[in-house]
Amino acid sequence: MQKTLIKQKFSGIFLLIIIVELTQGCGRNPYVSSNRAYKKQAKEFSKLLRRYPLQDSVSNEPYFVGTTNFSMRRPNYVIIHHTAQNSCEQTLKTFTQPHTQVSSHYVICKDGTVYHMLNDLLRGHHAGVGKWGSATDLNSSSIGIEIDNNGTEVFTEAQIISLLDVLQRLKKTFNIPVGNFIGHADIAPGRKVDPNRNFPWQRLSEQGFGYWYDTTNVAVPPDFNAVQALRLIGYDTKNEVQAIQSFKLHFVQSDSSMLLTDADKKILVELIKKYQ
Ligand SMILES: [Zn+2]
Repeated sequence: MQKTLIKQKFSGIFLLIIIVELTQGCGRNPYVSSNRAYKKQAKEFSKLLRRYPLQDSVSNEPYFVGTTNFSMRRPNYVIIHHTAQNSCEQTLKTFTQPHTQVSSHYVICKDGTVYHMLNDLLRGHHAGVGKWGSATDLNSSSIGIEIDNNGTEVFTEAQIISLLDVLQRLKKTFNIPVGNFIGHADIAPGRKVDPNRNFPWQRLSEQGFGYWYDTTNVAVPPDFNAVQALRLIGYDTKNEVQAIQSFKLHFVQSDSSMLLTDADKKILVELIKKYQ
């Protein structure tokens, strides 16, 4: 009788431990199932890489000869965004729900915490339709960094310090050119306006991420073609007004008009020296 009681007592305690573990477990990591989905998808891709002979190429055996000289494709651009959401938690949730179809490699919270959500060698879904110079499908060639910001806020110092740290590492690892650190608005004029005009592009360029002009004390040549200059920098000038808007969001943040002033033209004259 007593034995049964003790047994019952123990199984009760045991059950309680399991419940506590489960609830604490949920509290610790709400992303258990999306992490599992990530692992599953990564496993599928690794299976694809291991496939021999290739089954998705023009020729199958016997016309497959594996070369000995290759490596993984590498990102060549970094595209910076603001999340236009109200918290990091909200963004993590957005990027872990399949129906949203959006993601980025990194999310930087207001306190400087950096979440790494996707292997740098894999393709994120953050750029969408866009063009920079002759580069299209920027999702395939870029790393996406989302900074927690509701769209109008000032970026926190902790965010910028963390961002600079991530950029430094990416630049070194993938040898990304100085001019290829750009914003979402730069590649998608008229469609995107992030990161907002509080973003410290000049400070970034001083650290080697993106270009900035040295002076505005220059003369604008009489035959200066501003649209051509925008195109040379990388902007898609299909719609000139929208290209000017994106340019000003990045380089003339104090002026939200879509007009290209003489002062703006001086900036362009200086800037194209860097891109040429
Ligand atoms: Zn964006």
